Amino acid sequence: MLKCKHITEQASSYIDGEMGFMQRLKFRMHLALCKHCKRFVDNFKAGIEMVKRLPRNQVDKDKIDATLRRVRDSK
Ligand SMILES: [Zn+2]
Repeated sequence: MLKCKHITEQASSYIDGEMGFMQRLKFRMHLALCKHCKRFVDNFKAGIEMVKRLPRNQVDKDKIDATLRRVRDSK
């Protein structure tokens, strides 16, 4: 069983689809049982979507990092 710590560490690979099938399954199982992590992943996803919607020329790495950090700290 994955721990909450693993979920926060691996959230970006999960969202980017970089995860193997079994790992993904375990991840989803944890999300189904843990509201806390579900909310964390939802927030994380929303943060990434927000960054992706920004016009290319306005995206600088600091801004992306700051956004993701804010999402990560918002749990
Ligand atoms: Zn959890």
